[in-house]
Amino acid sequence: MLPPLPSHFELNLPTWLGEFANVTALASLEERMRFVVRAARRNFEEDTGGPFAAGVFEEGSGRLVALGVNRVVPTNCSSAHAEVMALSLAQRRLATFDLGASGLPAHQLVVNWRPCAMCFGAIPWSGIRSLVIAGGGPEIEELTGFDEGPIHPNWSAELERRGIVVTDGILRDEAWQVFVDFAKSGRLVYNARKG
Ligand SMILES: [Zn+2]
Repeated sequence: MLPPLPSHFELNLPTWLGEFANVTALASLEERMRFVVRAARRNFEEDTGGPFAAGVFEEGSGRLVALGVNRVVPTNCSSAHAEVMALSLAQRRLATFDLGASGLPAHQLVVNWRPCAMCFGAIPWSGIRSLVIAGGGPEIEELTGFDEGPIHPNWSAELERRGIVVTDGILRDEAWQVFVDFAKSGRLVYNARKG
């Protein structure tokens, strides 16, 4: 028997993430990425989700607005990717669906790898003005086995065309090491259609 139709759903962050909450502002892109990579590593080591984290920062000041980590397995929600978590939490915090609304400072999304097909789609909807990633190649799929979906061949040019500045290659080696260690750990790669 199925339970009754749900009327709402909820996503949450792991409790250890509270330790990351007292950061105020991170001036450089390297500092912002280091912070995100540290959260990504912690997330899989704590078994609270996959090896991905994302932060929404005020682009100019580097003030942290929201931090998300991957929560697919613990929340039984395939769309609970780090980017979706961070963008949604930032929108909740600022009480707006548009992080690029007039009167707001420019917002930046910092992620420890390039967005998957779903998160690529979420970015233009979110209102962020810039995206910073550690790396952008398909080698993550070969290493980890995650299926990132049909990535648009000109995905970064498409974002730029919409006024979203893309910066690639920030702390690539540190970010890559997290995926190497995740693959070595033998933890679950949560692709769908495995039944
Ligand atoms: Zn994604």
